[in-house]
Amino acid sequence: MARYTESLCRLCRREGLKLFLKGDRCYSDKCAFERRGYAPGDHGQVRRKYSDYGVQLREKQKLKRMYGLLERQFRGYFEKADKQKGITGTNLLLFLERRLDNMVFRMGFATSRNEARQLIKHNHFLVNGKPVNIPSYLVKVGSEITVREKSRKVGRILEALETVARRGIPQWLELDKDNFRGVVRTFPAREELVMPIQEQLVVELYSK
Ligand code: SF4
Repeated sequence: MARYTESLCRLCRREGLKLFLKGDRCYSDKCAFERRGYAPGDHGQVRRKYSDYGVQLREKQKLKRMYGLLERQFRGYFEKADKQKGITGTNLLLFLERRLDNMVFRMGFATSRNEARQLIKHNHFLVNGKPVNIPSYLVKVGSEITVREKSRKVGRILEALETVARRGIPQWLELDKDNFRGVVRTFPAREELVMPIQEQLVVELYSK
C-alpha cells in the first residue's frame, strides 16, 4: 500500500500548525515548527493569499495529514459520512476518531497515530479480547482495548504510558494504566474535539 515517506515535520510547516505527528518530539524544543514556523521551500516565508478553493484544499490536507491518511482512504470516509444522517462534517470527524490507531494514540498507548499504527500492525493489541492488527478497524462505544499480555514490556508502549499525562486523555475515553486497558466510554460531541479544523470546508470541497 502507498504511504507517505517524506519528512513529517514538513507537513506541519506546510499546513501552518502543529499536527503532532512525531510523538514526544512534538512537545519538546526540537519541534521543527517551533523553530521554523513557516512553509518549507525557497518561498516558504512569502505570505500567500489563497482562493476559496485553496482554503478548502488546505483544510482537507490538514485533517487528512493529522490522521495520517492518504487521499483514497480519506475520501472513502467522506463518502460514508455523507450517506449517514446528521451533519456530514461531524460524521466525518467521528469516523476518523473511531479508527483503532487513533484510539490507541488517544488512550496513551502510543505517542502519535503513526506509532499507534505500527504497534497495531505488530499485533500488540486486543479489542474486546480478540487480536486486531488493522489500524483502520472502527471501534464502538463500550469497546475495550488492551495491550496483549506478551506486549506489556514493549519499550515504546511503556514510554508512551509514562508521558501520557502530558498529552492528556479525552473524557470520552477511560484508561486503566496499571492493567494496560482502555475503554471507549462514549463518542465525542463535536465541541469536545478540540482541533483547529473547519470540517465544513472539507465538505464544501468534496461537494463541488
Ligand atoms: Fe510537527 Fe511534531 Fe514535527 Fe513539530 S515535531 S513539526 S509538531 S511533527
